[in-house]
Amino acid sequence: MSDIIDRIAGVAGDVADFATAQSKIVAETAKLKAKIAKEKIAIRELTFKIGEYYLENFCETADPGIAETVKAVCDSEAAIADSEAKLLALKGFVKCQACGANVPADDKFCGKCGAEVIKPAPVTETEPDTDDEPPVIEVVNTEE
Ligand SMILES: [Zn+2]
Repeated sequence: MSDIIDRIAGVAGDVADFATAQSKIVAETAKLKAKIAKEKIAIRELTFKIGEYYLENFCETADPGIAETVKAVCDSEAAIADSEAKLLALKGFVKCQACGANVPADDKFCGKCGAEVIKPAPVTETEPDTDDEPPVIEVVNTEE
């Protein structure tokens, strides 16, 4: 009789050991996956920093293998600067070339640093041809 009880206790012990081992694997898996995710984020942030450093220091002398991508970033930055200048102009300001302050467009000198304000070239937005017919907007009448 005690033999059977011992065997049952043995099996129960094995099941408990198995469950413990399984939960250790699950916990270890989660820990390792979290570590991998953390390192991937670190790599992404570091790669971004490398890119920023490269753009700042090698924009003009970019390696031919990356020159096209560097140029694309420079083009985007130029487009942003252009749009920001236009936004500023809409509010009646220009950006001081010397200190970056917003100066009223009519002022000759920057109120912050005193530098002469260089007016940006007049905006020559490629407007659609005025000869063209205005686009016809079809109104669908949903009321019957
Ligand atoms: Zn200034």
